[in-house]
Amino acid sequence: MVGMATRKWTGAREWLLLGTVLGSVTPDLDNLAVAVATLTGGATEGLHRTVTHSLLFVEAAIIVFYVIGMVKKDARWKNLGYGLGLGILLHILVDMVLWFNGVYLLWPMGGEIGLWKEYPAGLAWLYDFNEQAAEFLFFGIFLWALGSWARKFGTDGEFLGKLRFWMWFEFALFAIFFVLLLLGKKFAIVSGGLYLVSILMVFFVTIRMRKTLEAA
Ligand SMILES: [Zn+2]
Repeated sequence: MVGMATRKWTGAREWLLLGTVLGSVTPDLDNLAVAVATLTGGATEGLHRTVTHSLLFVEAAIIVFYVIGMVKKDARWKNLGYGLGLGILLHILVDMVLWFNGVYLLWPMGGEIGLWKEYPAGLAWLYDFNEQAAEFLFFGIFLWALGSWARKFGTDGEFLGKLRFWMWFEFALFAIFFVLLLLGKKFAIVSGGLYLVSILMVFFVTIRMRKTLEAA
């Protein structure tokens, strides 16, 4: 959603906004590595909010797609790379301000940098809310926003049925886990698994609806 909001000041370069929105999601795909490590009994330490949440990753995304754009002689790939870099950077900044622990901004050097070491005691509920419920709410709102753009610009009409399904899927997950949380129940493994399904779905839905982002 932060990525979508940049379109007012980044201009209408092809694939730029697509890159920014995808870039805003990309850093947390490192949770897939955490899941693989968890399932195989490996160490999860140092996998999340490290390399994909660093300035090095921002630079790497820009450089890799700049080179692809040069090789293919197609400026759109460079735009995609600039967008990815911007999106990843915005994600990192939001994490540093809102999340309950920092990011390894200067990875592979330095430790966690962020506003909080942990939330103050009075905000402990926010930890569980963020960990188990909030992601589903915001995935749902993001899909709703994509759908409202698609209707406004008359794009991706043939996909809107599926989009609506996924949107309600996310709102339903939010409702279920929020109620469970109110009842004092935590299901970290289940909600974590559904979170992975959700973030991959959002990544591919964004690519599927690139025409809508191009029209915005
Ligand atoms: Zn993150």
